[in-house]
Amino acid sequence: MAPVIERHVYFDHSATTPVDPEVVEAMLPFFTGTFGNASSIHSFGQKAKVAIEDARRQVAGLIGAEPSEVVFTSCGTEADNWAIKGSAYFFEGKKKHLITSMVEHHAVLFTCNYLHQHGFDVTYLPVDKFGMVSPASVAEAIREDTFLVSVMHANNEVGTINPVQEIGAVCRERGVLFHTDAVQTVGKLPIAVHDMNVDLLSLSGHKFYGPKGVGALFMRRGLQLGKLIHGGHQERDRRAGTENVAGAVGLGKAAELCQTRLDEDERRLAKLSGDLFSKLREVISGVYLNGHESQRLPGILNISFDGVANDSLMQNLDLKGIAVSGGSACNSGMAETSHVLNAMGLPMNLMVSAIRFSLGRSNSEEEIDYTVPALREIVERLRGMNKGKKVLTAP
Ligand code: PLP
Repeated sequence: MAPVIERHVYFDHSATTPVDPEVVEAMLPFFTGTFGNASSIHSFGQKAKVAIEDARRQVAGLIGAEPSEVVFTSCGTEADNWAIKGSAYFFEGKKKHLITSMVEHHAVLFTCNYLHQHGFDVTYLPVDKFGMVSPASVAEAIREDTFLVSVMHANNEVGTINPVQEIGAVCRERGVLFHTDAVQTVGKLPIAVHDMNVDLLSLSGHKFYGPKGVGALFMRRGLQLGKLIHGGHQERDRRAGTENVAGAVGLGKAAELCQTRLDEDERRLAKLSGDLFSKLREVISGVYLNGHESQRLPGILNISFDGVANDSLMQNLDLKGIAVSGGSACNSGMAETSHVLNAMGLPMNLMVSAIRFSLGRSNSEEEIDYTVPALREIVERLRGMNKGKKVLTAP
């Protein structure tokens, strides 16, 4: 019989967040009474259109953009694809080089790989031991035919925050477009797109207590991109497809709520994650923090527990109702290491033992006090079982 899990602790807010009840409430009318198609000219359509434009203002307000600079997409992945492929399509035949980093989310990395397979040149910048990209390495990599630099705002695995303002300044000086994947930072850190020197910025609703299936791309005013999706004239002829009205409304409401809660959320999460890490270090040996100590998202802690495989750790935590995610994935007994930790130069023993805690609004000190002894017991048990096994003592 499967064990009964008595309680649940969710430490995976970077994977997704629960939808805020106020967001759900704001969305509900758009599934029923206010169901119009925003492109219709009658009153049903116009109500939907007004709601979308209100939502656009709310999203723009959170990132310091003009409403007309915000285009709704189906998710962060689409926003990333559009920023990168859209730039490539626009410059096709004129410029063929783009720059990204080795630690990007697959939504960026695989899009760049795709363009490489289709004749574009891609430079993948290395990072330092904290997972950070240096503006100097960007400056050095820019060529005459470079059209785009895409470097993420903060990393989703280790939380390290990149110096995007400086990277943007380099790009601006050299006349190159700058895109940042801010899927992990929007709603968590203050964002002012114009101060950050970005031309394109991706965000996603489900990472900041909004619904899944809706995101947005900030496109600096006057910027032209090739289209990713062809069809109708929606979104000022920039992205075709009947608008996801309820999704946009939810994204807008989530953005508005984040604007009011940002400072408090940031302070609370920094305190909680600081406490979690120091309490873990007090009771467990061989515990290492991956990523930057201070230039890090307040809610993300990527920690290696030397001598323990992260998949066993995650399964055992799950049995206690504690949800975390892995810094690397294990497949058929073969450790497939994280491209992020790899690029940071972590030794194998720390890569295969890394897990990510990502904290959010629902977490409390009491949950930390439940988690720390649970982890201690699991780590001690697994270390005892694994003594002398090769995979866990690799260099
Ligand atoms: N970029 C980063 C940094 C992410 O963390 C994620 C999701 O985990 C994405 C992009 C993709 O966003 P979405 O899930 O909305 O497609």
